[in-house]
Amino acid sequence: MKETVIDFHVHLAKYESYAVNCDGLLAGAYPTREEYNEFRKYYSNPHNFLQLMDEKGIDYSVILAEITPLTTGVSTNEMVETFCQASPRLIPFCTLNPYQHPNMGNLLEDLILHHGFKGLKLYPPYNYFYPNDSFLYPLYAVAERLGIPVQFHTGSSIFANSRIKYGNPIYFDDVAVDFPDMKIIMAHGGRGPWYNKALNMVRLHQNVYIDVAGLPPKKLLELFPDMERFAHKFIFGTDWPTPVFNIINMKASPMDAQKNIEMIRKLNISQEAMTNILGENARQLLGLV
Ligand SMILES: [Zn+2]
Repeated sequence: MKETVIDFHVHLAKYESYAVNCDGLLAGAYPTREEYNEFRKYYSNPHNFLQLMDEKGIDYSVILAEITPLTTGVSTNEMVETFCQASPRLIPFCTLNPYQHPNMGNLLEDLILHHGFKGLKLYPPYNYFYPNDSFLYPLYAVAERLGIPVQFHTGSSIFANSRIKYGNPIYFDDVAVDFPDMKIIMAHGGRGPWYNKALNMVRLHQNVYIDVAGLPPKKLLELFPDMERFAHKFIFGTDWPTPVFNIINMKASPMDAQKNIEMIRKLNISQEAMTNILGENARQLLGLV
């Protein structure tokens, strides 16, 4: 039987608006501005994106809303909801921006119960808040009660105006203790300064996971030497369509999900661990049958 592959970290190809710096960096992966615009337009059609998933061997994609105007840009919950209506293979995650949305708990409940969202994505380093700040606790209480996973950006970002201190995995220690039944997914595994801290959170808390989006797949075992032992806590993701950046000269090249999957399949880990990372863990988190 073919194993299920789930990409737990995908953004819309076309946002409502982009922060200037981010737009420039993304466009850098394409030879011309026209080709970049063409790419964004083509894949803003969900049927074209589903075809791409078929070509790359991906069964399901988690599509993330993002309301972070200072750093990357805005793709609204409504845009993600509409996009994902094309197929059950597209799994919508909503977002809330603490500076724009009062009463986040009520909003989350409405988005989950009445708009088909299956999870929540939050962006502490882009929206400037600590994940363990008590003003978020009513929101977490709703997420825990509804049994939905909550994914957070952790670690570094190259986009201007992001503030990395808010991406430190240590703050999930509080959240994991106070909301033991809420599934916490640390996107990028504390990328940059905190791989070890992220792995520590995974070791300590049964409800904390890592999604490996935006990390070099070849290097995963260097970054997380305990990956095999905690393979039930690691989740595959690509961060599509964010390009791969050469951090020295900031040159960008388009990211190829299929290559990422192939590189993960070549890692020196067991078949069972691979199956868990590529799809099984995500399938359970999302309650897919
Ligand atoms: Zn992302």
